Amino acid sequence: MSEPVNNEPAGKASHFIRDVVMADVAAGKQNGQVVTRFPPEPNGYLHIGHAKAVCLDFGIALEFGGRCHLRMDDTNPAKESMEYVEAIQADIRWLGFDWGEHFFYAADYFERMYEFAEALILKGCAYVCDLSSEAFKEYRGVPTRPGKESPFRNRDPQESLDLFRRMRAGEFPDGSRCLRAKIDMASPNLHLRDPVLYRILREPHYRTGSDWCLYPMYDFAHPLEDAFEGVTHSLCTLEFEVHRPLYDWVVSQLAPPIVPRQFEFARLNLAYTVMSKRKLLQLVQEKQVSGWDDPRMPTLCGMRRRGYPPEAIREFCDRIGITKYESLTDLALLEHCVRDALNRTALRRMAVLRPVKVIIDNLEQDLDVQAVNNPEDETAGSRTLTLTRELWIEQDDFMLEPPPKYFRLTPGKSVRIRYAGFLTCERVVQDDATGAVKEIHCTWNPPEDKLKVKGTIHWVSATRGVPATVRLYDRLFTVPEPDGDKEVDFKSHLNPESAIEVQAMVEPSLAEAQPEQAFQFERVGYFCADRYDHTAGAPVFNRTATLKDLWAS
Ligand code: ATP
Ligand code: MG
Repeated sequence: MSEPVNNEPAGKASHFIRDVVMADVAAGKQNGQVVTRFPPEPNGYLHIGHAKAVCLDFGIALEFGGRCHLRMDDTNPAKESMEYVEAIQADIRWLGFDWGEHFFYAADYFERMYEFAEALILKGCAYVCDLSSEAFKEYRGVPTRPGKESPFRNRDPQESLDLFRRMRAGEFPDGSRCLRAKIDMASPNLHLRDPVLYRILREPHYRTGSDWCLYPMYDFAHPLEDAFEGVTHSLCTLEFEVHRPLYDWVVSQLAPPIVPRQFEFARLNLAYTVMSKRKLLQLVQEKQVSGWDDPRMPTLCGMRRRGYPPEAIREFCDRIGITKYESLTDLALLEHCVRDALNRTALRRMAVLRPVKVIIDNLEQDLDVQAVNNPEDETAGSRTLTLTRELWIEQDDFMLEPPPKYFRLTPGKSVRIRYAGFLTCERVVQDDATGAVKEIHCTWNPPEDKLKVKGTIHWVSATRGVPATVRLYDRLFTVPEPDGDKEVDFKSHLNPESAIEVQAMVEPSLAEAQPEQAFQFERVGYFCADRYDHTAGAPVFNRTATLKDLWAS
């Protein structure tokens, strides 16, 4: 583990899952053991919603001295790959959690699951059914009326066993037969109406290749995986609540020494974001973003590249809490956690994103000044900056004809420049054709002169500063629920201004930044050196967050 996460301040709000686990441990259930698991399907990268589940699964295990397994829930051959397996591991480690030796693949249990299915057949608790999928649906019926039994339901177990073995051997075409549990065709819960346990599917699997043409269904596989591993508390999202009776049925048929129990909590829905892996994949494949780790993506690797610190994501997951109610979480809360963490740790630097030249006509020689690295952290010290005759300031910090209450630089007026005294604008050189401001000529006063001014602006020396590419990221979508309306393509809500690149001038020390290092560019926002593209010779910074919530009205 890169950093312990369970030594955060005490007094975290409790929630019903922690309460259940606490009560179980106190009652000595399962020998007082707590074993959880995080079971991603390796068909995409982890996103902030998964982070909620990761923090809960690993967090509960840490808190109660138990363990959390990382299990690839890879029972569905299509769309799974090793690329995703490796990315999932890297992202969980980055978030600050470790599964130790407890890394598993569900596919490694295929043989064991198959043997258990044969045992169910022999017990008369499962049968091979030859109904077409249309007939299957028709027989299953609706919750308010009992379903109709399949004509194959009372097939002799030996005949079912023979057919099941031949299904495995590849004798029958895809979809022609399936294995079903024999439970209750009259149950108001459709999941108990003789659910499918195995289907025939000729699809190579990224781990088992073409060993199998028979794959277990999630509802059969998941409880078995939990039981095989001795999981005590199987935590999942609310959509699985109606599957729980089936989960319990499968477990009771297996009768394992440790009986896993399933608990459901509401998934995280985040405003201005889509979270479906299918939709995120679509953005990647259609090149709407640069990849899964595009800094605008809600993926963990995207947030990492954007500069979100892992502790901010853990704090966010802690603050949103665990409930049984679906809701839409405000993106501002996540951004607040990010700013909060960065405010404490990020070094302060000066960078001018849209530069205009200032010439100090009365500065005879360069002048060294001291600049504080982080007012929130005394140990961060200070650095030397050099005030030179030519400076860059932000175009926005100068106005020829200012509106009322504009306290930055204007003709004939003065402003404070960070750490280095005052400038008074004497005259301006404009482009003959466009009228654009080319040079702002100023006189300089040292800090001791204490001119009466209301504004302070930042600056970068034109001779010492270095050029840098700065990517100004913003929300990927312009509406709070981009996939809220099924009739409208979620991509029509993409924010065309979510990635704007500017050529900035930055203070020299920023060229030495380590990839992923975080900074506050004073007055501008939080930035990080890009994990992949930043070099000392060609600095590249990503905007992590603005200094305040620009979207708040
Ligand atoms: P799919 O749409 O492919 O089923 P999924 O998002 O459910 O995707 P899984 O890989 O099955 O992805 O998820 C792994 C675990 O993460 C599951 O236990 C799931 O309940 C949990 N999880 C997924 N999305 C969220 C979310 N938005 N909030 C909280 N937990 C989530
Ligand atoms: Mg899922």
